[in-house]
Amino acid sequence: MQIVCFAVRVMRYLWAGPCTLLGLLLALVALPFGATVRLDEGTLEVAGGRFGTWISRLPRFFQFYAITLGHVILGIDHTSLLAHRAHEHVHVRQYERWGVLFIPLYCASSLLQFFCGHDPYLGNRFEREACSHGSCPGEMSAPSIPGQTSVKVVSHPTGSNIRFPNKKRKTIFLKKPQ
Ligand SMILES: [Zn+2]
Repeated sequence: MQIVCFAVRVMRYLWAGPCTLLGLLLALVALPFGATVRLDEGTLEVAGGRFGTWISRLPRFFQFYAITLGHVILGIDHTSLLAHRAHEHVHVRQYERWGVLFIPLYCASSLLQFFCGHDPYLGNRFEREACSHGSCPGEMSAPSIPGQTSVKVVSHPTGSNIRFPNKKRKTIFLKKPQ
């Protein structure tokens, strides 16, 4: 029985493999610029360094605090990843279920919501599932950012979420650092 469970686990990794590979490529770009790696429950978490800074400078539509690609989770910092780990791990399970089909299905779901006049992030069926099992970044406090007392929360259809100062949408005030 153990060998069957092991085989199923291997198959999940292989099925999500092409997306994981994409995540690994981004990780390879991030690591020389100070990002650090953690292993957690069979996933690779990559965050921090100048990589996080770059994400914060992306055009608003592309900003996110974390994005899951197969079994790789990339984020602005490890504090953010820890705060929303349960959410991101639901996405990992989704990659294991849908494999390479996940990204086009995710985009299709967001497009459908957009054309129906709904929020393409919060209305996305995969995000709703992740929100029902873990934190929902678009609806609750964003992770704290060192040196900042407030952040914005904005939606994003391809990653998770979001935050950043001085933009439109919802503002969340955090405690000032002591
Ligand atoms: Zn998500």
